[in-house]
Amino acid sequence: MNRRVRLRFAPSPTGPLHIGGVRTALYSYLFAKKHGGDFLLRIEDTDQTRFVPGAEEYIIESLNWCGIKIDEGVGVGGPFAPYRQSERKESGIYAKYAKQLVDKGYAYYAFDTSEELETARKNAESRGTSFSYNAQTRNSLKNSLSLPESEVKQCLAQQNYVIRLKVNPDEEIVLNDLIRNEVKFNSNIVDDKVLLKSDGMPTYHLAHIVDDYLMQISHAVRGEEWLPSAPAHILIYRYLGWENEMPQYGHLPLLLKPDGNGKLSKRDGDRLGFPVFPLEWKDPNSGEISSGYREKGYEAQAFVNMLALLGWNPGTEREIFSMEELCHEFSFSHVHKAGAKFNPEKAIWFNTQYVQKSSDDYLVGKLKEQLMSVLNLSEQDKRLSVDYLTPAVHLIKPRIHFAKELYSTAPYLFESPENYDLKIIEKRWKPELEGFFNQLTKDFDQINNFESAVVEEQFKQSAVAAGIKPGDVLQLLRLMLSGVGSGVDLFGMIALLGKKEVQERIEKALKKITN
Ligand code: GLU
Repeated sequence: MNRRVRLRFAPSPTGPLHIGGVRTALYSYLFAKKHGGDFLLRIEDTDQTRFVPGAEEYIIESLNWCGIKIDEGVGVGGPFAPYRQSERKESGIYAKYAKQLVDKGYAYYAFDTSEELETARKNAESRGTSFSYNAQTRNSLKNSLSLPESEVKQCLAQQNYVIRLKVNPDEEIVLNDLIRNEVKFNSNIVDDKVLLKSDGMPTYHLAHIVDDYLMQISHAVRGEEWLPSAPAHILIYRYLGWENEMPQYGHLPLLLKPDGNGKLSKRDGDRLGFPVFPLEWKDPNSGEISSGYREKGYEAQAFVNMLALLGWNPGTEREIFSMEELCHEFSFSHVHKAGAKFNPEKAIWFNTQYVQKSSDDYLVGKLKEQLMSVLNLSEQDKRLSVDYLTPAVHLIKPRIHFAKELYSTAPYLFESPENYDLKIIEKRWKPELEGFFNQLTKDFDQINNFESAVVEEQFKQSAVAAGIKPGDVLQLLRLMLSGVGSGVDLFGMIALLGKKEVQERIEKALKKITN
């Protein structure tokens, strides 16, 4: 069948989007784009009790941040609008198809109260089995198949019923999964799932099928927690007569905790200090804040790259891919069947790669923002000029993992230190060195071309002339200029600060140390 490739991401707005959900969206998007198709966003909000305000906006903002473009859906519109299930319900589509199944004998009305179902469950448990509403049990329960017609009419008149799928025993069900290939089931393991709830809302089982069908979805990719329900879904397609239009399902393996023991949860993130959400989230009820990759300073592209490789590989050792390259390379045949262990260090590694290959323009812009928020500088200040910031970025860049660390990694490039690491003074300083440093500032006067290599050469000569090993005073020189014992390339820093600033800093430090 030659159909247009259309994939949807169909989250429920029950809270912030877990990175596992972002990965589902990403893989769907990559596959759609690889095949020149569409990526849709549908909001599955039929469970009103789990609705969380702000969650839908959060989902959209997360996709935007990742660069996952929505072709059709909530917030964008499109030919199959509305794309929010609560709004779609208004037109009665879900009830219509549920009734159609009842009329064809593939579904029935059930009137059991939750207490009655609970009793049935307990009874089954006391017999050492688990309760299932199915071909074996349905005749002893309260529904339109077991009750006399007059009673059914009465019950229906009270408008208090659910519609359940009537699963025929012993049907063979074959799932042709994008990731797991062929998986066979027997309908005997499928229960008579509720399709339409008593409040008239469809369950996920019915709603996603009606919508996938009407929206002409070609591939439905979702978390593997849905795999056990897949046979029921195939039966619904079959009973509705839509099996030929059924999207190909793909069930993605879980994202696991770093040690591989179980599903990656919010608590792991809090415990181990890494976010499990793309963006920061403030719980509207408790006010509790959960950290996000964006706010932690991750580059969106690095985050996407990291996520893409959590469970997929290109078949080579290559790890760095732009979104465009991912769209080109991605395929479900290289998605692993086993769960993918989340690795926080690897996330930082990816970000580091992206920061290291960021353009000067981008990093200069970031550094400038940071400087302006920390120091009170006038627009004309030379330290804000591109000529000053570009070499500063070159000096700092090799030492950072995140762009937001630019300023804090080397604040001394922008302000003379007020404090000096006492441990280094204790270890290295000798009173007789005062003369050497005084002479050094004078020797610097002779240099016209105050460049890194020239200054370094002069420093060595001055040391030798004073009978000192350059290595014995190198760290002190750094300390005088920066206040600390290690940092960016020393002579690069000296060249950037310039002769006058360097001389002033040495003089200032000498005063402090010799006092
Ligand atoms: N609303 C479902 C969920 O959030 C969607 C599953 C699917 O993609 O079909 O798990």
